Amino acid sequence: MLRTLSLLAIGVCANALVGVTAWTQTPPEVTLTRFDCGIGQSPIDPARFNDTFAFPELKVTITFSCYLVKHGTEYMVWDTGFAVGANPNAPKVSIVDQLKQLNLTADQMKYVGISHYHGDHIGQVSLFPKSTLLIGKGDWDALTAAKPAAGVNPAPFANWISGGGKVEPVTLDKDVFGDGTVMIIGTPGHTPGHQSLLVRLKEKGPVMLTGDLSHFQENYDGNGVPIFNTDRAQTLASIDRFKKIAANLKATVIIQHDQRDLGKLPAFPAAAK
Ligand SMILES: [Zn+2]
Repeated sequence: MLRTLSLLAIGVCANALVGVTAWTQTPPEVTLTRFDCGIGQSPIDPARFNDTFAFPELKVTITFSCYLVKHGTEYMVWDTGFAVGANPNAPKVSIVDQLKQLNLTADQMKYVGISHYHGDHIGQVSLFPKSTLLIGKGDWDALTAAKPAAGVNPAPFANWISGGGKVEPVTLDKDVFGDGTVMIIGTPGHTPGHQSLLVRLKEKGPVMLTGDLSHFQENYDGNGVPIFNTDRAQTLASIDRFKKIAANLKATVIIQHDQRDLGKLPAFPAAAK
């Protein structure tokens, strides 16, 4: 009995010590900033964005969003939009020039995370050759296939495909900085390796960035599946998982393409904390 008690006491002390260590370490500050990555010039065709003939009259003009996640002294860019001047929807100022306004350089970006391989998310990825590329394994496999399918453009990823840069193909989820504050959430279906992002902010609380899980609020609410998605069943399962995570964490959901969500983050150069 005595032996049990003393063992218990040791256990309690050890736990207390672990507790003290955890308390004295200040967690790194995490912030989230939105970059302008382009503005749609005309409404999208709603018939392409769902396969159930929903809302044929809907007129939605989408926007294009990229983000900066700061984690202490480390940084990640999330999505890279169109290249400057690539088309009428493309941004006028590059992400690197927007970083300059924050006194940061491309080389300081430890990671460049890509939600998926579509052209409006990868246009400026080559501006971050020193960053470790975090991309869904399904998308990476599509980009590195001997004969990439139509709509899969490996050119912007030449630096990583040639072995010139580090790449971590993500199989489902990834705890980016190892402390749970920034997590890639696998949400395949739009493309084989599509992924979303969860950022836990101290003041604002958890924020979830959709990638292109849904392009606008009506489609998010109605579980709409664009006709050009690679897998309908996967898309529905991903929307279900994403919504359950958002509900359980009471997260702010930001649909990256929906300009009605712009007000959910402070305007550049300010950051949500
Ligand atoms: Zn998109």
